[in-house]
Amino acid sequence: MSFTSQVKSELCKIELKKPCCLRAECYGAWLFSKCFTLKEGSYTTENPHVARRMLELAAAGAGASAQLTYAVSRRRQPAYKVTLPEEQERRRLVNEFGHSGLEPSLRINRGALEDSCCQVAFLRGVFLSCGNATDPNKGYHLEFAAPYKNLANDLYALLGEAEAFRISPSLVRRPGGYGVYLKDSGQIENLLTFLGATGASMELMQVKMYKEVKNNINRKTNFETANMDKTYSAAARQIAAIAAISDTVGLSSLPENLQELAALRLNEPELTLRQLGERLGVSRSGVNHRLQKLLEQGEKILKEKGVDGVM
Ligand SMILES: [Zn+2]
Repeated sequence: MSFTSQVKSELCKIELKKPCCLRAECYGAWLFSKCFTLKEGSYTTENPHVARRMLELAAAGAGASAQLTYAVSRRRQPAYKVTLPEEQERRRLVNEFGHSGLEPSLRINRGALEDSCCQVAFLRGVFLSCGNATDPNKGYHLEFAAPYKNLANDLYALLGEAEAFRISPSLVRRPGGYGVYLKDSGQIENLLTFLGATGASMELMQVKMYKEVKNNINRKTNFETANMDKTYSAAARQIAAIAAISDTVGLSSLPENLQELAALRLNEPELTLRQLGERLGVSRSGVNHRLQKLLEQGEKILKEKGVDGVM
């Protein structure tokens, strides 16, 4: 099941207790369905819960009887078609919310949203009929596909002024309509929770947390790799210096403690200062001090030989 379908199925389980909110959800769902007109049209969905909900909303919210038939979706999947076959039913639906069905440009009639409680129900209806939410594993994107420009503008304004949550949607022209969308994971989470899809919202949050942990691990690994490069380049410099001593005056010319360290460094270039110290029973700073002496002496030899600065 797609993430969109999961969200919608969850929303369809919400029981509408208040008649005002039931009407508001009916209004939102049908207004954005492309069937909110006196002309005959049909709404097709692959989600059986959404199809059933549209049918029930029309009946309970506007007293209009719709019909449910089987169809094939644009993706050639089994789907459900919801229609209002009788013109009087279509008229009843649009009149219920203060529309004539003949408007040249469809807008949201704010007067039909009686109370503030109805706003969430209205938006839920809109999402049911034209919403899409991308699987959070693939990316963060939630979009309302509004059929007409003014409806898109009105929805954009309504979402932006919602008091329960702060979201700032974007508006874009799409082939055959307009998109009102969110890209911020936090805002998508808020909206899903607000609409009542708490399960989907939780899932999004979990995916986000998982991604963050994974990123942190990657960052840490990168950090360790970078440190390892540093160990290597420092070691390379030390080895060049030690080799210079060995090739000229010989390691045996060195004091015993430096000889020991020089031999160890030559054999184990990957060891860190701490590890060198552990091998020799010396502190890290002790090792560092001795390495500095080896570097000084070795680089002096290299300089005399005309090899200017190994690093
Ligand atoms: Zn209400």
